[in-house]
Amino acid sequence: MNKILSIIIKLAFFALLTILTQVGGLVFLLSLLISRHLKQQFRFKLLTLFVVFYLISTYILIPIISPFFGRERVDNTAIIHPTNYLTILLNRNYVAPELNELFKFTEKKLENTDIQIHYLDANFPFLIGFPLLPHLSHNDGRKIDLSLIYETKEGQISTQQKSNSGYGVFEKPKPNEVDQVSLCLNKGYIQYDYPKYMTFGSINNNLLFSEKGTKTLIIALLESKNMEKLFIEPHLKERLNLESKRIRYHGCKAVRHDNHIHVQVKR
Ligand SMILES: [Zn+2]
Repeated sequence: MNKILSIIIKLAFFALLTILTQVGGLVFLLSLLISRHLKQQFRFKLLTLFVVFYLISTYILIPIISPFFGRERVDNTAIIHPTNYLTILLNRNYVAPELNELFKFTEKKLENTDIQIHYLDANFPFLIGFPLLPHLSHNDGRKIDLSLIYETKEGQISTQQKSNSGYGVFEKPKPNEVDQVSLCLNKGYIQYDYPKYMTFGSINNNLLFSEKGTKTLIIALLESKNMEKLFIEPHLKERLNLESKRIRYHGCKAVRHDNHIHVQVKR
């Protein structure tokens, strides 16, 4: 009985690590195998082996191997950062080279502004079609989520976010705006609201949504012909007075996009 329970626990770890980090599950299996064959005994043997192998994979091996599979890490610069460092630690920061080019282009367009690009979930390093949950479409290196831009009460652009994960704090529709969120929820698409469970705590409650900053970021992205499409909630598109056929509505089957922007680059 104990043996069966042990196998179930290991399988659960494998599944969880695969869902969270893609390679973590395999690293866990490798650690189990080596732990069994390693005669030396020490405390937390399996955990120690896993942590060492995982860090070597994440910081050394995968960045070298992934370009052979058409993916690379998002290039961080003075103005391009992950909103949350876990994105990097969990290998959720891989993109096709075209996306890094789009970012470089956008970065240039944002010169002389205070606006920074804070990215959220991108893609995993390997395999076309392997989704980065909970984002089913982030499976080919061409998708990435970006944080909205916020400002202080005085109108100063901020580099801070309003939730620890970067997701889930909504810039809700105002009474006079189109309310696609209620429309989807009333139709029974309850998952539309799910990003609210992904905040890991809201922070910087004094910050305000920056219409000017977010609009500047979106326009800079749209200036590239390689920017294929962008998702943002209809009431924000309306509020920012954005006109482009490449700003699309994602549909009720997705989740609401008034807490982040979804960007897709052309092949
Ligand atoms: Zn997305």
